[in-house]
Amino acid sequence: MSETRCGYAAIVGRPNVGKSTLLNHLIQQKISITSRKPQTTRQNVTGVKTQGNVQIIFVDTPGMHRKQTKAINRYMNRVATSATLDVDVILFVVDRTIWTTDDDNVVERLQQSKVPVIVVVNKMDCQEDKAALIPHLALLQERLKPAEIIPVSALRGHNLDCLEEQIIKRLPQGIHLFPEDQITDKSSRFLAAELIREKITRQLGAELPYQIAVEIDQFIDETTLITIAATILVERDGQKRILIGEGGSRLKSIGTAARLDMETLFDAKVMLKLWVKVKAGWSDDDRALRSLGFHE
Ligand code: GDP
Ligand code: MG
Repeated sequence: MSETRCGYAAIVGRPNVGKSTLLNHLIQQKISITSRKPQTTRQNVTGVKTQGNVQIIFVDTPGMHRKQTKAINRYMNRVATSATLDVDVILFVVDRTIWTTDDDNVVERLQQSKVPVIVVVNKMDCQEDKAALIPHLALLQERLKPAEIIPVSALRGHNLDCLEEQIIKRLPQGIHLFPEDQITDKSSRFLAAELIREKITRQLGAELPYQIAVEIDQFIDETTLITIAATILVERDGQKRILIGEGGSRLKSIGTAARLDMETLFDAKVMLKLWVKVKAGWSDDDRALRSLGFHE
């Protein structure tokens, strides 16, 4: 492509279809946390990919879902919706033919948008019967009228070059908004907190992860060594006990896993200190959410 281009691509879809995995593989760096549990991503995470004279700014979003019972869930829906308003292209990620009412909810929101939509049919590595997709995708084509439908495997990196080509075609001409070596607009503190949250989500039982938040109390960057102190907030005493584990074993293994990922991401040695604190009701309290950095 001869002219300089730069633009935004929002990644939307219901929880757990692989949005964050897609972002990480597109920019070949782990900046958005992923797990088997829904609602791992809570805030929009920006990933910047610059190649030659093209810059794509991806925005990974929390999963959109119908249930909006708690303040944190309402917050995540607003954040995801806001990301679709002012972008050049929307990547609507779906999981093969697995369709839920949360997918219907996304379609309804996208029907109101004027931005071109690319349907990304993810997890194709798990789809044996490719023909079974055809009637499903034909229906979706009719209903949403997307610009493209592209099957991929985010995890394996299959067909992502084709997806990228279709994104680039839709970006406007213009100067790059980020320096070439910048991969995200998020601070190192934010990324550190997210990595801790990811390890908790991956290592602990189903319901706990919804009710934790991570605050970075200290972040001292001495180039080759970064010292980080963080507090994990939970809602109840019982959760604190689970998180700490027998003789502190669980917290230790969460800390080790998070530290290893931080060392790769920051390219430095990391000293990580973790504390656990009970702060009842934070996830349904708008003021507490703001103080934890959930700003719009
Ligand atoms: P998000 O909630 O949409 O951001 O989904 P995540 O990126 O956190 O992924 C949810 C789960 O799906 C994780 O366990 C991923 O490893 C898995 N996953 C994502 N993409 C693929 C894929 O292409 N193939 C397979 N088999 N699993 C995937
Ligand atoms: Mg995610």
